[in-house]
Amino acid sequence: MSGYHADVLIIGAGPSGGVAANRLAQAGLRVTVLEQGDWHGPHQYRGAEWDWELAAAKTWSTAPGVRGAAADYPIDTTDSDMQVLNFNGVGGGTVLFNAVWIRLLESNFRTRAVSGLGDDWPITYADLLPFYERTDREFGVSGLGGNPAYPPGAEPPLPPLPLGPGPMKIARALSRRGWHWWPDTNAILSAPYDGRRQCVQRGACASGCNEGAKSSADVTHWRKAEALGVRLLTGARVLRIVLDGRGLAAGAEWVDREGGTHFQSADVVLCAANAIGTPRLLLNSADTAFPDGLANRSGLVGRRLMMHPLAVVAALFEDPLESWQGHNGSAIQCLNFAEHDASRGFALGAKWSLHPAAAGPATEALRVIAEFGPGGDLHRRFAERWGHGVYWTIMCEDLPDEANRVELSRDLTDSSRMPGAKLFYRYSENSRKILDFNVERAREIMSDAGAWKVSAYNPSPANAHFMGTARMGDDAQTSVVDSWGMSHDVPNLGILDASVFVTASSVNPTSTICALALRAAERLLERRASLPTPARRTSVAAPPRPAAAPAPAAPAPEPVSEAEREQLKRLAGGIIPVGDDLPSGSEVGLEGRALDRILAVRPDLSSDLKRALGETTEAPAEALATLAAADVAAYQALLIVVTMGYYMDSGVRARIGYEGQVPRPVRPDNFPEYIAEGLLDHLMDDAA
Ligand SMILES: Cc1cc2nc3c(=O)[nH]c(=O)nc-3n(C[C@H](O)[C@H](O)[C@H](O)COP(=O)(O)OP(=O)(O)OC[C@H]3O[C@@H](n4cnc5c(N)ncnc54)[C@H](O)[C@@H]3O)c2cc1C
Ligand code: SF4
Repeated sequence: MSGYHADVLIIGAGPSGGVAANRLAQAGLRVTVLEQGDWHGPHQYRGAEWDWELAAAKTWSTAPGVRGAAADYPIDTTDSDMQVLNFNGVGGGTVLFNAVWIRLLESNFRTRAVSGLGDDWPITYADLLPFYERTDREFGVSGLGGNPAYPPGAEPPLPPLPLGPGPMKIARALSRRGWHWWPDTNAILSAPYDGRRQCVQRGACASGCNEGAKSSADVTHWRKAEALGVRLLTGARVLRIVLDGRGLAAGAEWVDREGGTHFQSADVVLCAANAIGTPRLLLNSADTAFPDGLANRSGLVGRRLMMHPLAVVAALFEDPLESWQGHNGSAIQCLNFAEHDASRGFALGAKWSLHPAAAGPATEALRVIAEFGPGGDLHRRFAERWGHGVYWTIMCEDLPDEANRVELSRDLTDSSRMPGAKLFYRYSENSRKILDFNVERAREIMSDAGAWKVSAYNPSPANAHFMGTARMGDDAQTSVVDSWGMSHDVPNLGILDASVFVTASSVNPTSTICALALRAAERLLERRASLPTPARRTSVAAPPRPAAAPAPAAPAPEPVSEAEREQLKRLAGGIIPVGDDLPSGSEVGLEGRALDRILAVRPDLSSDLKRALGETTEAPAEALATLAAADVAAYQALLIVVTMGYYMDSGVRARIGYEGQVPRPVRPDNFPEYIAEGLLDHLMDDAA
């Protein structure tokens, strides 16, 4: 790659980078992309396999700290009210995202005008509309047109996904109250599209879609980008963006997996590393011209972090809903409380999304044990819960606050010795009020729908939406980039990701991120000839640096002795007792081959498990209580192994009626049951 000069260098291969790379390459530009993670593919995701629950909890966990892959970087959240979910690799967060695909409402661009708080964007919904419509088609979005609460524009290119019995109950309850609801828009195929198959409703969306039906940017954009000639280098972590002597971005210094450093030159540099990764990179690119971080004369790089505080309201119903299946994804959106209404006693609003309770049996059993302890009435409680639930996620509009911010960590570094990110983030009083109000309303709807149990998690501790850390604006004193995403301070440096958001809105951000990225790419194509070009135009591959910290190797499972296996069998009976027609945990042979299979997938569990299996004379119930108090990690590892081993057993599966995550291809239905039932009529009447 030595000597290869790019017209445009993009840092980060998530959806924002993918949309821009594709468009720029279509126009004939030479685009190079540096991505710290790797390619992954549908064949690697475990949704159709016996071990999908195990893999979702580790290899494909949404929490970077749990995955601990070399591509991940540390994010210190000790001073943050919220934890971070993300994915680092080709496709970025969309590899694991839920694919809820919704536009900002028109009022979201005018928060200050509407509520007196926050700021107004320098652009309007109308400015973004043509780009929303194009990116909807590029990603393959499914949904139902005509939603009166949704901003104007073309209908989604694909018909809506099915609702299923749980969401239908909630839809009826919402309609009875006359509240807004609508089948949600998702970047999930409801019909074959663009060479991909439609969704089969396995519900494993958040651990990677093995069907390729979820529109993650690797399948929608990056393969096409490579076919168009984009040079996408993986395992390439950018350490800093480098300026030439005239204050222009000359390119980026990056480090490969072996620790070798390189310099990639380009006429234009675009950051697409998300609203934590981009400020991290800009702050790490401080130099004599920009001692406080590159492009940071405003002092706002890293500031105004918004994260969408959210709550979960879960409900259980008596009738079976088979809710381990279904896209996940959102079935229903409720925008009844999304707009500002001062009479509610707080500013701005929230968006609700309804999901099936897409948990496999082992995950559900772990939840029951977490709530009620092992043994006892486990089977009854499990039968009441598993496949009987749906839940709302309620996401509120977060206001920008300069104290909420991303800084470089002073203590933590990644596998390339680049400083990690440190978050400072606190919920606002307004966010808490929005969530409290909406949680109460959501509880009411769940009760109206006939739920026998409603639980709220308010606030829920983690989210994957980061916005605002390099805001756009017309004034260089109060914003980092202009309304096209180009830096006020460094004319050939731009930002494609949600760092540029002025306010957060209450809706999922990725549709807007992609529309903004496409708009930025079109503007770049128009303006490119007038942009100054940097002096240095040569890329170099430098000799390897002194050893970078090696990527943490996956531990081999420690052998488990016969005595330990006996102890596992004994304790398994204390965790899972005999049921009406179900064996106990001691009776399914999980201490044999099942254990070996589990540890082959999750070798990280073995040392914790072995501590749990030390000799003891206590009866199982007492031994478990002692362990839970003395060694939480060992206790948890034991519970995971026992529940996984138990529900892997074919006899147990037959008795609980579980055939695994069964493929049920969506059949596009142009006249769904909720239309036939008239459940949307109240909204059509209002709109008429
Ligand atoms: C579990 C989960 C569920 C989600 N659900 C939804 C949803 O339903 N709807 C929705 O709208 N959004 C959802 N999101 C959020 C969505 O994934 C993000 O908004 C979106 O991916 C952001 O796109 P991006 O291109 O800006 O950044 P990312 O997708 O985060 O991509 C950034 C890329 O940059 C790379 N990178 C970062 N730093 C460097 C560096 N220094 N050098 C090289 N490469 C670097 C990263 O490895 C990464 O691949 C979800 C995310 C997760 C994790
Ligand atoms: S439910 Fe659909 S989108 Fe989700 S993982 Fe399964 S096939 Fe993919």
